[in-house]
Amino acid sequence: MRQELWIDADDTLWENNVFFERTFDRFVELLNHPHLTPQQVRDQLDDIEHVNNKVHGYGSANFMRNLRLCLERLRDAPPSASEREVLDRMYADLVNHPMELIDGVEETLGYLASKHELLLCTKGNPAEQQAKIDRSGLARHFSHIRIVREKDADCYRSLASERGRGAERTWMIGNSPKSDVKPALEAGLGAVYVPHPHTWHLEHCHVPDAHPRLLVLERFSHLMNYF
Ligand SMILES: [Mg+2]
Repeated sequence: MRQELWIDADDTLWENNVFFERTFDRFVELLNHPHLTPQQVRDQLDDIEHVNNKVHGYGSANFMRNLRLCLERLRDAPPSASEREVLDRMYADLVNHPMELIDGVEETLGYLASKHELLLCTKGNPAEQQAKIDRSGLARHFSHIRIVREKDADCYRSLASERGRGAERTWMIGNSPKSDVKPALEAGLGAVYVPHPHTWHLEHCHVPDAHPRLLVLERFSHLMNYF
């Protein structure tokens, strides 16, 4: 039977968080803190991100703003002119990173689109997310694209009522326990969890061991065995 498949983008269809991790590593070098370890710097950044992501959302520009705030907080002084230049270069590299599709994505989407309705559902800065969708060349497989501010149960409930296909025939597929799996199950949809080793640590949360509407797949291409 024709199903409605909602598919996440970052770290599900293409590499994403690894570029943020590399930017963070460059930031640690730039900061060159006398005694904090990279993990301790990360903890400080996480505190800033927890607060600011609720206000400003996600995306590269917000991440860079958070890095600048982190530098100021840890130094008790703003970045110098030359450091600002380095930060600007880091931002340009992050925004323009090459699109690296995850193995098997192209063929799998082609197969799934021939049998089901595909909707791309991603969160973040609308212009930045749309630019990645365009650069990926994958938009043709999707009949709908949604770029939302936050992927939570309310978001999925309202999208499901708008789509009208019924929760029992609707699935959310993605790499994030916090944004894809947990809220989809909470909204009564099916969820397919495709773990990615570079998933952003703030996207982790508990995934149930067994749930009648949860599938855990090692690879995106394994979707072809189930749909
Ligand atoms: Mg993702």
